Amino acid sequence: MATEKVIGIDLGTTNSCVAIVEDGTPSVIPNRGGYKTTPSMVAIAENGKRLVGHIAKRQAITNAENTVYAAKRLIGRKWGSAAVRSSLEIMPYRIVEGPHDDVRIMLRDQVFSVPEVSAYILQEMKLISEEYLGEEVTKAVVTVPAYFNDGQRQATKDAGRIAGLDVIRIINEPTAAALAYGFGRNVERKVAVYDLGGGTFDISILEIGNGVFEVISTAGDTFLGGEDFDRRIIDWLVFGFEKQHGIDLRKDKMALQRLKDVAEKAKCELSSVKETEINLPFIISTGRNEALHLQTMLSRDKLEELTSDLVERTIEICARTLEEAEIAKNQIEDVILVGGMTRMPRVQQICAEFFGLEPSKGVHPDEVVALGAAIQGAALTDEKSDILLLDVTPHSLGIMIVGGYFHKLIEQNTTVPTSESHVFTTVKDNQTSVKILVLQGESDRAEENELLGEFVLTGLRRAQRGEVEVEVQFHISADGIVSVKAKDLETGLEQSITVTATSGLTEDEIKKMIDQNKDYMVDVRAGQEFEKARHQAEKSLEEIESLFPQVTDIIAGSDFGQDAVKKARAVVERTRQAIAAKDLTSLSDATEALNRTLNMFRGVVSKTRG
Ligand code: AMP
Repeated sequence: MATEKVIGIDLGTTNSCVAIVEDGTPSVIPNRGGYKTTPSMVAIAENGKRLVGHIAKRQAITNAENTVYAAKRLIGRKWGSAAVRSSLEIMPYRIVEGPHDDVRIMLRDQVFSVPEVSAYILQEMKLISEEYLGEEVTKAVVTVPAYFNDGQRQATKDAGRIAGLDVIRIINEPTAAALAYGFGRNVERKVAVYDLGGGTFDISILEIGNGVFEVISTAGDTFLGGEDFDRRIIDWLVFGFEKQHGIDLRKDKMALQRLKDVAEKAKCELSSVKETEINLPFIISTGRNEALHLQTMLSRDKLEELTSDLVERTIEICARTLEEAEIAKNQIEDVILVGGMTRMPRVQQICAEFFGLEPSKGVHPDEVVALGAAIQGAALTDEKSDILLLDVTPHSLGIMIVGGYFHKLIEQNTTVPTSESHVFTTVKDNQTSVKILVLQGESDRAEENELLGEFVLTGLRRAQRGEVEVEVQFHISADGIVSVKAKDLETGLEQSITVTATSGLTEDEIKKMIDQNKDYMVDVRAGQEFEKARHQAEKSLEEIESLFPQVTDIIAGSDFGQDAVKKARAVVERTRQAIAAKDLTSLSDATEALNRTLNMFRGVVSKTRG
């Protein structure tokens, strides 16, 4: 039996990409429009229809409040976090508080969780691959920024489930890029993967050799990416406009969306030209109903000045990760650039300066991550595969101990999967329970780290403090997902959790969303079938219309002929009505009759010719 195909999905902040390995060769699957990447955008149209990808992007300006972009910045985040606070200020769509200290998005009158929005994008990628492969796809490897914490990984996995995908592995984006870079090449070297995408920055140092891809160190910032560069341009434009006209454009959602569009476009253009014109006619009207326009020039130098601290920040993170890995800069033999933002000349230049070598040109920054995910997917299902991926955990893990301190059980940059345990004792006399607070982060103070979850172990024997021993065991899976167990060493009593608290969704909620989405998929598939049938019917209609004049000339002389032409007209009309009614069953019936008539017409014409 053929093994089931596994797709690789790069679920990006700005764009997403899907790839597959066929006959040992990885390739990106283009979408219906022929594009290799699809905007990570979801919208709800006025008629309540869900729009995903390019169609969502095309209507973003006129339907800004109901169009979600950069949802990846919110996934797995807590309501009160800095990331959410800053998104509240800048996103044209409504972000509201969820029931589990999580974030929800309000589009029209419906509330969506962030994993749901991401699920719609994953589902689109699933559909793109199904159309290409002509079969259902249920398994995927999905990539996340290396610096995603446990909550963000869990939430991404949940998104996969909602989309009807079994996410067999979550892998880190830079690691995926290195896999694609090293695949099929017999290289043995230390490489740095510098990944600057739409919303996040990651740097990973890897050692590649004999099919083994070992991550030595990884670091990053999940809140540093192309969106921040765009925002600098927006701020500059808004500031200039306010100075000139005394009007704050941020207050107008449509203006804000147009500014965002134009800022990103200008940024991309400035990667190939030195200066570009920004032109937004009728950006806003004044109180006196007079329209104002925004028109200005932006140079590459100005853009570099506006964003120099952002670029510098990436280099500071690179320096830190090299230091942690105890690797000198000159030991790095190749630098792989990943993510759309690495097209910016200043980014390429600063990387070349810092690492002292020209970045590798062999990989496509937009496609390499999805390709790597597909390679990993194929390797996981092929027993003969000789690819071994050794990734690391980007954050330390531990629990809170007396005095509010953080006790680390697993250190940052430990290879996963891994398990670690430590025996703690009670701290009070007659203590019968312990509360385990599971934390992720690097600070000695527990409160400064991310709380992943908590649970209580009860039923401890009453004794003097320090007498009862509790063993706490941590496990990190190959996906980077954490589970924790606490065991009373006297009684053998255990409590455990798979840390899911921060994904923001309960199991019941996820199950409900999976069901709702199944119905949606049935609708989409039916829609696709209808489109196929419509396409075929329209081809036949076109041909039959072109034959009508000739056939009428030839056979209309007889009663039989008149009747045949009349019947043919009726069949044509029936087909058109079925198309208008979007009814697949009646369209199939009508097309059958239409094709019979068409054959008869063809016969009449060819006989006369003969
Ligand atoms: P990714 O998340 O890898 O798809 O990266 C998307 C980011 O790259 C977005 O912020 C884009 O605006 C940015 N980007 C794409 N093309 C270019 C370009 N030619 N120059 C500068 N930035 C770009």
